Amino acid sequence: MSAQSTNLYEGKAKILYTTDDPDILLAHFKDEATAFNAKKRGQIIGKGEINCTIAAYLFQVLEASGIPTHFIDCPAPNQMRVQALKILPLEVVVRNIAAGSLCQQTGLPVGTVLPDPLVEFYFKNDDLGDPLLTRDRLMLLKLATPEQLDQLQSSALRINEILRDFFHQCRITLVDFKLEFGVDRHGEIRLGDEISPDTCRLWDESEDDPDRRVLDKDRFRRDLGQVEDAYQQVLKRVLEQVNRKK
Ligand code: 5GP
Repeated sequence: MSAQSTNLYEGKAKILYTTDDPDILLAHFKDEATAFNAKKRGQIIGKGEINCTIAAYLFQVLEASGIPTHFIDCPAPNQMRVQALKILPLEVVVRNIAAGSLCQQTGLPVGTVLPDPLVEFYFKNDDLGDPLLTRDRLMLLKLATPEQLDQLQSSALRINEILRDFFHQCRITLVDFKLEFGVDRHGEIRLGDEISPDTCRLWDESEDDPDRRVLDKDRFRRDLGQVEDAYQQVLKRVLEQVNRKK
């Protein structure tokens, strides 16, 4: 970080700093954890480093398969240099298995395998509680153009294929996850934010028990305990898989 760097934005999980290069930002991953629109707060020791490292590997896996991301490199275990993006105010959620808000809002039993992956768009707006959007509402609010929306949908599905396969090789089921995208200075849509146990539901394939199998932020949300162990376990398996592929 240079002497001139300023805190550009502080989110719940990261602080973004400017750098000497206006096209490059430095993301500092925090140990602080929040859930339920920050109504629940806590700390997951080591989370900043773990999430930054996992996200860095996953971004590289995606880039190797042709998905443009904002990832540049990691100057420290909890710091990531990223390309500056104009973030679209959308959360793109992909689901393979019913869990979380899908079950709460539809009555589908937790664990129902979906016939096809479901892609959903949420309005990234804390004051409104990140509501689920319809395509028409998205257009009404001009949150993305129809072309961008089609691109986000197909990109999210492709990312799901790549990550589902990668996590399966880690003996982890990718239940669902949230993505954020932005537009770079060339007008290209790139994947931003992070992909980590904070933003994915990850279940241990070798565990049937509905609580013991949880390897993600649901351990924090639902007070299941051993949160740090679960995050460490995901990191360990991701590293093993990355090393196997080398
Ligand atoms: P749900 O809609 O079931 O609460 O979340 C679906 C998936 O998206 C889960 O993997 C969840 O972790 C992720 N997700 C949705 N919204 C957010 C958010 O605001 N922050 C984070 N970290 N993850 C989210």
